Amino acid sequence: MATITALLREASSEIGSESARIDAELLLGFVLEKNSAWFIAHGDDELHPTVQAKFLELLQRRKAGEPVAHIIGSRGFWTLDLAVTADTLIPRPETELLVELAISKFSPDKKLRILDLGTGTGAIALAMASECKNSAVVAVDKSANALAVAIENARTNHLRVEFIQSDWFAGLQNRKFDLIVSNPPYIPSNDPHLSLGDLRFEPLSALVSGSDGLDDIRLIVSQSQKHCLPHAWLMIEHGFDQGEAVRGLFFEAGFVHVETVRDLEHRDRVTVGQWAEMP
Ligand code: GLN
Repeated sequence: MATITALLREASSEIGSESARIDAELLLGFVLEKNSAWFIAHGDDELHPTVQAKFLELLQRRKAGEPVAHIIGSRGFWTLDLAVTADTLIPRPETELLVELAISKFSPDKKLRILDLGTGTGAIALAMASECKNSAVVAVDKSANALAVAIENARTNHLRVEFIQSDWFAGLQNRKFDLIVSNPPYIPSNDPHLSLGDLRFEPLSALVSGSDGLDDIRLIVSQSQKHCLPHAWLMIEHGFDQGEAVRGLFFEAGFVHVETVRDLEHRDRVTVGQWAEMP
């Protein structure tokens, strides 16, 4: 029988990706119903052969390319544990930057009206709901299947968000918000990364947006004004090479205090701007 430490070491080298060790721990944690902190104290424990067999089966799926979030059916985001399916984008750490920025612009007890466009698993909307307890959060997605996942995530995390099936602003009449956030699709349709890694398993509708990746961002920025309360902030995640173009769109639409913020890997990632219209 192998010890946990030996098994994790062997599995990590077999997976061989950048996140191999974390992947191996998440898979074993799923089988054992334990988190990674538990492994530190139990490295010398030996695994029961049935448990080991189950783990090796999941490891095979990971080695064949399937995302860990799909194998275990969940992904941690912010302080939340979110269900993930093939109908949703897998929440990513860089999107937490968007949540951080959103929180930094307002005092936590303010009563804000917040909108998350293209919510997917509900990641951003639910993180905002967990941080801004007095605020009313609305989240839209055009995919009914994605919304079902988001609604389930709200339930399991005991958070209240109003979910609406809508193609961007289409189903929102003239409702207005203090904060509009979005992690829309932004990958160019011919980007070779689409045939690599986790992206192969995620919905194209959550990833790809026209030949330059900016079709949806153009639409969101140009239509946001109608849904901004005075001094509202708009915050959009985008590709590392789209900062300048997205700032241009914000300026063109009349936003001020426009700035692009970099992620932990120092890549342009989120552009923010404030609606200038006076009350
Ligand atoms: N950040 C993702 C990636 O490049 C893309 C997600 C998105 O299009 N919103 O892998």
